[in-house]
Amino acid sequence: MSARDAMAAMLDELMGPKRNVELGKDTKVSFDDPNICTYYLVGFCPHDMFTNTKADLGACQLVHDDNLRRMYPESPEYGQLGFERRLLRFLVHLDEDNMRRIRKNKDKLSGMDDGGKRKLEDEKRQILRDISTMDEELKTLMAGAEQAGSEGDISKCQELVAKSELIEAEKHSLEERLEKLNESPTQTAPGIEEMSMKPMEVCEVCGSMLIINDAQQRIEEHLTGKMHTGFQKIRTMIQHLKDKIKEFGDAEEQRREERRKARAEESTDKDSKDRRHRSRSPHRSSRDERSRDSRRDRDRDYRRGNDRDHRRDHRHRDRRY
Ligand SMILES: [Zn+2]
Ligand SMILES: [Zn+2]
Repeated sequence: MSARDAMAAMLDELMGPKRNVELGKDTKVSFDDPNICTYYLVGFCPHDMFTNTKADLGACQLVHDDNLRRMYPESPEYGQLGFERRLLRFLVHLDEDNMRRIRKNKDKLSGMDDGGKRKLEDEKRQILRDISTMDEELKTLMAGAEQAGSEGDISKCQELVAKSELIEAEKHSLEERLEKLNESPTQTAPGIEEMSMKPMEVCEVCGSMLIINDAQQRIEEHLTGKMHTGFQKIRTMIQHLKDKIKEFGDAEEQRREERRKARAEESTDKDSKDRRHRSRSPHRSSRDERSRDSRRDRDRDYRRGNDRDHRRDHRHRDRRY
């Protein structure tokens, strides 16, 4: 990386990918900008977790923007962009890989692993069995040959000797094979031989091979190491994200329900307004009529100063309601 590229990467890291935008222009970076690492926005980027371990994922190619990460939970888009699901999918994938490794290491320990120690020991045992069977056959053949010789049966004697020579050759090649197998464990699978020296177990969190009753310092190194803490963090985050996604779903459901209710109310409101509008027309005209009437009445009352008329007018008006 040239010094210029290194500076650019550093500026990206510090100021976000829109650092080149001129001042005064729109400097708003959207959360779903393709250069932004959305894993980091939601919580953490798995690429950061296992550097220089067996589970190293390589460096993240996207920008880890602290400003955006601070803004994200406060923004109206929080939980609306599918970022949580995306991180959940990645973490579940990593967790499944980890589970597979745990199972594989357990199989290895119990000697079930193909090409492992058990297969090797089985083959050695089989060769030893074959050799001892051959030794028995050779004894019988030699005894037979001796007897045939003492009886003067030369051709039978020769036949039995030839047979025993064949078996002798076969036995020799088996012994060579056995010798090779006895050399091979330290050459082909040193781990297995080494492991069988001390009782081991597989860590249920990160799949590491652990020596049972190991030194306290080694135990602590493992428990605080990147692999162990990383896979523990992944499991915790998976649960957290599942809860969050359910929360977002519930909130969305509630918003939908509220919108539905609001729409329903609006339409009943509109209905009743329409109804009122229809029924109000005669009503309003009657009120207009009444006001004309009452004006006339008032004028009349005023002119007459008549109480009885005034009361009658009230009755008259009430009936109109
Ligand atoms: Zn990232
Ligand atoms: Zn562990």
